[in-house]
Amino acid sequence: MKPLISIVVPMYNESQNIDFFYQKISEVMSGLPAYDYEIICVNDGSTDNTLEKIELLAGRDRQLKVIELSRNFGKEIALTAGICEAKGDAVIPIDADLQDPPELIPALIKKWHEGYDVVYATRLVREGESSLRKVTAFLFYRVMHRLAKVDIPPDTGDFRLMTRQVVEAVNQCNEYHRFMKGLFSWVGFRQTSIPYLRNRRHKGTTSFNYWKLWNFALEGITSFSFVPLQLATYVGFLTALFSGVYISYIIVKTWLFGDPVPGYPSTMVAIFFFGGTQLMTLGIIGEYIGRIYNESKRRPLYFIRKKTNF
Ligand code: UDP
Ligand code: MG
Repeated sequence: MKPLISIVVPMYNESQNIDFFYQKISEVMSGLPAYDYEIICVNDGSTDNTLEKIELLAGRDRQLKVIELSRNFGKEIALTAGICEAKGDAVIPIDADLQDPPELIPALIKKWHEGYDVVYATRLVREGESSLRKVTAFLFYRVMHRLAKVDIPPDTGDFRLMTRQVVEAVNQCNEYHRFMKGLFSWVGFRQTSIPYLRNRRHKGTTSFNYWKLWNFALEGITSFSFVPLQLATYVGFLTALFSGVYISYIIVKTWLFGDPVPGYPSTMVAIFFFGGTQLMTLGIIGEYIGRIYNESKRRPLYFIRKKTNF
């Protein structure tokens, strides 16, 4: 029996990219005759004709499998659904827009046979993305590295190869707030990386605007770190300490010289400062409580409307 490789592709409004992607990935996979393969396309509630296009291809190619989610759940969940249905001895998540080059797959497989359980692809450059996006991404990975206890490799997306054992481990993580690359690292096992040059999108535009990216970053940080919560403690300590000193100063001053001036500016400054820090720390606590609330509902992560070729 040949080993089975599962390619998992989350797709949201990718109709312009599907044909070229399918052609590329089939080319690469048929160049690896020592392996069987399946391509699992997860249609994440696309509003264009992505679904029709992949179903058409699936009608001709039984190795192309389709999972249709009941609505748009976001990339992390689409990936979760695909990985959960994958049967392969190795599973490779990849984007449909060809930003993750399929030509790298043989190199990932080679490392797998060297005995690694996870082979992730680290981007050396990101083509066709704005400088702001590059700078924020750079900062995000650095901050994340500082804050999180888990070693989430910088400049690394979801594009990687994972063995069955790793996939089983990831599948056991049934949390609702899923920061996939965090989970992939969190499970451990023997991990290694290979560098690559990230292409620009083949067609279409990214579905991640800066607001979505900011929320994605928050998801990553709150899922893997308590540091923001602890920050509140330390800011609290520092301001308390400072207030203590300042209070003693005022007492001594009043005692020695009386209090001829009403002190409007310092009062306002204190009100604004404490008001601001308190709201901010409440907000941080809120981010965590909201997530606890969502987790406690224990809702299913997604619903599948239809599966084809399974
Ligand atoms: N995607 C998805 N659901 C979404 C948004 C995106 O399945 O709600 C898929 C998308 O089709 C693509 C991958 O996730 O295959 C990466 O998306 P995109 O290229 O928009 O993100 P970027 O590369 O800019 O981070
Ligand atoms: Mg992309």
